[in-house]
Amino acid sequence: MSTKIWLSSPHMGGTELKYIHEAFESNWVAPLGPNVNGFEEDLEQYLQQDSHVAALSAGTAALHLALIECGVSHGDEVICQTMTFSASANPIAYQGAIPVFVDSEPETWNICPIALEEAIKDRIANGKTPKAIIAVHLYGMPYKVDEVHAIADKYQIPVIEDAAEALGSTYKGQAAGTFGKFGALSFNGNKIITTSGGGALVCQTKTDKDQAVFLATQARDNAPHYQHSQIGYNYRMSNITAGIGRGQMEVLDQRVEARRAMNHFYQELFKDIDGVTVFTEPTEEFYSNHWLSAIIINPEITGVNREDLRLAFLEDDIESRPLWKPMHMQPVFENSPYYGGTVAEELFNNGLCLPSGSNLSDEDRNRIAQKVKQVFGK
Ligand SMILES: *Cc1c(COP(=O)(O)O)cnc(C)c1O
Repeated sequence: MSTKIWLSSPHMGGTELKYIHEAFESNWVAPLGPNVNGFEEDLEQYLQQDSHVAALSAGTAALHLALIECGVSHGDEVICQTMTFSASANPIAYQGAIPVFVDSEPETWNICPIALEEAIKDRIANGKTPKAIIAVHLYGMPYKVDEVHAIADKYQIPVIEDAAEALGSTYKGQAAGTFGKFGALSFNGNKIITTSGGGALVCQTKTDKDQAVFLATQARDNAPHYQHSQIGYNYRMSNITAGIGRGQMEVLDQRVEARRAMNHFYQELFKDIDGVTVFTEPTEEFYSNHWLSAIIINPEITGVNREDLRLAFLEDDIESRPLWKPMHMQPVFENSPYYGGTVAEELFNNGLCLPSGSNLSDEDRNRIAQKVKQVFGK
């Protein structure tokens, strides 16, 4: 019996335990300490652009704090890319605000600048200027940064970058996560590096970071007793998990290289199969960490649909998964406004994410290749 091939599984570098031992030896077993500070500094170094990073308990928490710091509250509207994981949109609901979903464009699968501007104009005509725009670098692919930010600037709406899947990706050489007023990173178990669970908020100013840390540590006013003038959250990262993060930062470049090599492997594997396209960068301005590699299948050409392939993989214990189901198609968001056409919907119907981990072996790749050739009759 061969072992399961996962879509994306944790891949330790080897020095993580050293940082955890240090935490135990110095008794920093708390949601603050040298690993938290060190991990933040490692990320700031890596991202450049004079970033100020707050390490948090989750990427979702980072998005929530970004919305709060953008002043989003009850009844406000926030634009969000429809093609994404629910964690991009849920924090809008936490604030009692209304998500307005926008379709993707076909090149990066991310928020469509044309539909975005149409949405903004229409919401303004309806009486409300959106309070923020959540744009996502899906599967590590940068969104069309110049186009999206030009529109956001024109209407003076802050952009919150959901870079949860995109640590290590760049657009015109600049790190994903550093373009927006805020950027959110995730270190969940399935991401390119992991702390077992965690996230970070990337800020452009120290003031914004300090405010995030204040809110993430129960919003305690400066007083000897416990005093609060605002609602706080318990969102800080633990010094133990931050230790895992410090170890993972030492191997991040290798992880990006390995994920990109997986993408290359799929490009080679599918290059002679008509009707299957491997998702990759549209131009050299985009550099994806290829967190997940994905394909689009045209069933009319191949005679095979994405479910056929997914189930065939499953027979051999190979995990694959349909692309994110767009948020405007989710029962929980069925009453939210939506702008655009059917790009995201078609991606969902025909797209499949393939095993993409940095820890896959040649044997794993052979098993995947055999299955693909069998399914497509090659
Ligand atoms: C993983 C992910 C998140 C949430 O991050 P967590 O750390 O799991 O809370 C948000 N957005 C996207 C696009 C993600 O993939």
